[in-house]
Amino acid sequence: MTSPSDAAPASTRPDTQPADPRPGVSPSSSPHPTGAGRYAPSPSGDLHLGNLRTAVIAWVLARDSGREFRMRVDDLDTARARPGVAERQLADLAAIGLDWDGETMWQSERSPVYAAATDRLADRGLVYECYCSRREIAEAPRAPHSPPGAYPGTCRDLPDAERERRRKSLGPGRVPALRLRAEADELTIDDLTHGPYTGVVDDVVLRRGDGVWAYNLAVVVDDSAQGVDQVVRGEDLLSSTPRQAHLAGLLGIARPEYAHVPLAVNASGDRLAKRDGAVTLADLAEEGTTTRSAVARIVASLGGPDGADSIDALRGRLTPASLRDSRWTVA
Ligand SMILES: [Zn+2]
Repeated sequence: MTSPSDAAPASTRPDTQPADPRPGVSPSSSPHPTGAGRYAPSPSGDLHLGNLRTAVIAWVLARDSGREFRMRVDDLDTARARPGVAERQLADLAAIGLDWDGETMWQSERSPVYAAATDRLADRGLVYECYCSRREIAEAPRAPHSPPGAYPGTCRDLPDAERERRRKSLGPGRVPALRLRAEADELTIDDLTHGPYTGVVDDVVLRRGDGVWAYNLAVVVDDSAQGVDQVVRGEDLLSSTPRQAHLAGLLGIARPEYAHVPLAVNASGDRLAKRDGAVTLADLAEEGTTTRSAVARIVASLGGPDGADSIDALRGRLTPASLRDSRWTVA
């Protein structure tokens, strides 16, 4: 097999400590001295070819850089998670040849950790209650350059009496959402695929009004807990990355490196979805298409060798920058 052309020459040092430990990771105390990449599917349905391809890219970039590869199930929203879906996703990932290190992390089991992280922020005055409905946020006046969807800060500085009144007016089953009192309006991250990216930082939700911990908090806390220092994921998540990087900074967590890679699209150029036909391994099996030939399509879409039907054929062939134009039209 080829190895990455920029791989360091074999160390002649007698010890086994890495010569260049990653920022924020102490070789003497961390269980992840080499860092890790990861994949974190949300169990809303079977993975389609585009999801599987992103997982393969993340796996190749992690393994090629000597990192571990970690798995995490983004099942925060237990009301929406369907039984058995996560297990099928993990089985499909294994079937296409991915392997991962350590236990799979389930976000639904980690509420106390998210609560503790929020408490740490609250102790520094960085958390406040928000009572807004989606509609109120959409209709609130906002600053001229504020993008759609950014929180306009309605509840940031409410007097106590007004908080009391609004707390009482929440509907049944609702709790106040908790928001971060962000200390920046925007932030630039260095994305290894896109280059520098500047995006909005607003007062992100930490816990939603239905009591569910928010994705932006969980992803930051859990990447740190799993020793993840390389985040490779679909470019639909690029715009929320400055918020996550800001939150990581406030929590004292070293910012991972990021690579947001192009998504698979359908013949019309829209993001691939289940409704686009036979796009999951189960759909393909029904049509008589084997997993191996699905893997061959993914490998070919990433410039792998002709006819290769193993993801190992991609080792040493991908770099984050080379993926910039890798949008895949699944027809
Ligand atoms: Zn609010």
